[in-house]
Amino acid sequence: MKKIAIVTGGSRGIGKQISIDLAKNNYKVLVNYNKSKSKAEKLKKNLTEKGFDIEIFKADVSKESDVKKLFEYCKECYGSIDLLVNNAGISHEGLITDLSAEEWDSIMNTNLRSVFLCSKEALKIMISNHSGKIINISSMWGVTGGSYEVAYSASKAGIIGFTKGLAKEVGPSGINVNAIAPGVIMTDMMNSFSEEEINDLKEETPLMKVGSAEDISSLVLFLGSEKSNFITGQVIGANGGFVI
Ligand code: NAP
Repeated sequence: MKKIAIVTGGSRGIGKQISIDLAKNNYKVLVNYNKSKSKAEKLKKNLTEKGFDIEIFKADVSKESDVKKLFEYCKECYGSIDLLVNNAGISHEGLITDLSAEEWDSIMNTNLRSVFLCSKEALKIMISNHSGKIINISSMWGVTGGSYEVAYSASKAGIIGFTKGLAKEVGPSGINVNAIAPGVIMTDMMNSFSEEEINDLKEETPLMKVGSAEDISSLVLFLGSEKSNFITGQVIGANGGFVI
């Protein structure tokens, strides 16, 4: 029987690859998008034509009313949920002294509040099913802290604390909660970096390369599968050795 997954921010970047790989691995996937409507529609068309089961839904996951509608739509389409991938996120670079309170709120709401809101809705179903998996996409900067990315680092560190606390709280209900902390992954999020800066990052990385969205989606497949049934509350780094 097919499992049911929601991927937030699933129409482009890492989330898109996660959505594709889940669909190819026997999941029905509800892909959430916010601004990238045409990308979401194109993804749905491509995957549906190949015979995969995929739905799309627009929701700003930092907003409670949107998140509630997203999960209502999931129940309507698929009746339940087995896997939630909290992937949606935004980055921000700059000195903390230049950051406005509004920018801080936007980063925290998109990256961290969304994880709380979506997990809360998913848990309503997962707890009564006594099974389910939640995977939160954090960042290596949430582990080590990143200069010029203090608010982003704080939001991603918040995800780690959330993951660990929630794993303890819902473990007795048969639910696994883990986080992935990617290193440098080549998506739109890296567009502000010059070629020279990317090369410097490669040189700082023991494996001498940056990562791809596939490097993260393969971990999601593992953490979503029964092969990871004894793993919960963990933060798995996928960073080429950048953080050891
Ligand atoms: P990306 O290419 O910029 O994609 C970001 C995704 O987040 C988009 O699908 C976007 O959807 C979605 N999103 C943003 N705000 C949203 C909102 N309010 N509601 C719903 N969706 C929203 O970035 P990415 O590299 O794939 O990043 C995916 C995740 O990995 C993020 O959490 C990021 O922090 C994390 N990460 C990335 C890297 C990296 O090097 N790339 C490293 C560590 C961690 P729309 O376009 O539809 O708005």
